[in-house]
Amino acid sequence: MMGSVAENIETIRARIRAAAGRAGRDPHSVRLVAVSKHQPLEAIREAMAAGQMVFGENYLQEAEDKVAAFGRGVVWHCIGHLQSNKARTAAEVFDCIETIDRLKLARGLESRLSELGKTMPVLVQVNVGGESQKAGVAPEEAGQLCRDLQQFPHLVVQGLMTMPPFVEDPEESRGCFRQLRLLGEELASQGILGRHGMLQLSMGMSGDFEVAIEEGATLVRVGTALFGERGQAA
Ligand SMILES: *Cc1c(COP(=O)(O)O)cnc(C)c1O
Repeated sequence: MMGSVAENIETIRARIRAAAGRAGRDPHSVRLVAVSKHQPLEAIREAMAAGQMVFGENYLQEAEDKVAAFGRGVVWHCIGHLQSNKARTAAEVFDCIETIDRLKLARGLESRLSELGKTMPVLVQVNVGGESQKAGVAPEEAGQLCRDLQQFPHLVVQGLMTMPPFVEDPEESRGCFRQLRLLGEELASQGILGRHGMLQLSMGMSGDFEVAIEEGATLVRVGTALFGERGQAA
């Protein structure tokens, strides 16, 4: 049985603290992204009332509706695949885009952001599992993309994001999480990532966020463990 949204958030925060503790990390170095796709507005309102500040949305139209409903008091992360022709709208709606995987998308964002006079934190999505159906650049291409992104003054490239292949046992994802961290640290040591403060690593979801934190996650994207099962498309 799941508790209320407020109870679930409290439980997840405690699990985040415990996982950070096991890894000898400062629990404040891990931010919880509440994945609110296909969740009703009441549930999101409850999360906000419980102090949740960062929300993750996969679909642009749905995110637009939620931003219209809730305004800008909280932070909205794009965690879904973005088509390049939606880049201009995405630049207006979101506060952070975690799913940069090609130059064309970045160029579209930069164009609108420069008109708006707004800078945007972004992450590069890496397909660590190499699955053909998943978005993201191959690990060996991430460095070149990060380098190319430096030409865009309104994109603040903070780190990497990944979604490993689905597995039953979260321990099986540990290698993927570690691979993302090592890649991020390597690119940071070359000066092409994390030039704007701490390297950000977005990895871990409801089933495996603790393992991800043990491996260095600074953003965990948790949906069902926080809100319960998702409804149909909103
Ligand atoms: C839906 C989604 C999540 C949340 O998944 P849960 O298993 O419900 O926690 C996290 N990240 C991405 C990219 C997603 O699409």
